[in-house]
Amino acid sequence: EYAENTHGFVGADLESLAKESAMHALRRIRPEIDLESDEIDADVLNSIQVTEADFKEAIKGIEPSALREVFVEVPDVTWDDVGGLENTKERLRETIQWPLEYPEVFEELDMQAAKGVLMYGPPGTGKTLLAKAVANESESNFISIKGPELLNKYVGESEKGVREVFSKARENAPTIVFFDEIDSIATERGKNSGDSGVGERVVSQLLTELDGLESLEDVVVIATTNRPDLIDSALLRPGRLDRHVHVPVPDETARRRIFEVHTRNKPLADDVDLDALARKTEGYVGADIEAVAREASMNASREFIGSVTREEVGESVGNVRVTMQHFEDALSEVNPSVTPETRERYEEIEKQFKRSD
Ligand code: ADP
Repeated sequence: EYAENTHGFVGADLESLAKESAMHALRRIRPEIDLESDEIDADVLNSIQVTEADFKEAIKGIEPSALREVFVEVPDVTWDDVGGLENTKERLRETIQWPLEYPEVFEELDMQAAKGVLMYGPPGTGKTLLAKAVANESESNFISIKGPELLNKYVGESEKGVREVFSKARENAPTIVFFDEIDSIATERGKNSGDSGVGERVVSQLLTELDGLESLEDVVVIATTNRPDLIDSALLRPGRLDRHVHVPVPDETARRRIFEVHTRNKPLADDVDLDALARKTEGYVGADIEAVAREASMNASREFIGSVTREEVGESVGNVRVTMQHFEDALSEVNPSVTPETRERYEEIEKQFKRSD
């Protein structure tokens, strides 16, 4: 029964719970006791019996860590860390950053600030990165929740989790609340076969929170999905997640920019040709390009470490270079995550979503 009543408790919470229960038991038999200064006789200690009532009293005072851990962070990602996606950045700047930065302009022109944005596009295209950049550039706090986590970590408490998130967001405003993979909770009725109604309750809590947000409260929600067609349409109505921003698979120009971002702090050999790399990486998303750059450096380090003795490392590390060959080898190890078939599927989904949008 205790196990059942302690959803979201981590080990440390259970330890506190055990201690607190004992404290309640002690106070019950010695109400006048001063725990700071009084010595407690051994026979008193031996006679303590922790009852169910003590446990129930103690549990009221302990908030499970899994619910407490709504982390508020200030991301350090800037617009320059996001390669390509110029139009997307511009839209986010106008819809989120400006209202937070220049509220007086919005007021004067009688414009409604956005409460919510839905970013959609395939995984690894930079949605999280963009959300962090927008938070940083608008000097806002950032709270990030993953849809599946909301369901699993807060088993039976998902709505409470949502409430908690919004109250933390208000406390720390201006705040960007980031719901990653929102399709895992907010799918249209019946479209998610494994759903036992939890999703619906979470969606209605989300709606309540969104509708309760005043535009002046400086809390903005950004949700992401790669299946915009599955999102409960109630969430997408005006005044809710009503700004829809497409984050596409990068084209050649965008890939070139992403390569620049991920190689800017690396010592590149003269033969490294970023244009050629961008040309060769059709179907690679930002996350893939990051992996290519990482792998290329790994190849360079392997070659370098294999070619010098431990003593020589210090003096020759300045000569280490990542070469075009290292990149070529990396390309054969990292596959593009968007194949022509998946690309077609995404395009179909996006077209369909835009039509109904
Ligand atoms: P998503 O949220 O769309 O799944 P992420 O933003 O989490 O994708 O991307 C994962 C990682 O891939 C990022 O941390 C970043 O290193 C890299 N990445 C993705 N898109 C870009 C981009 N447009 N520019 C630079 N890096 C990117």
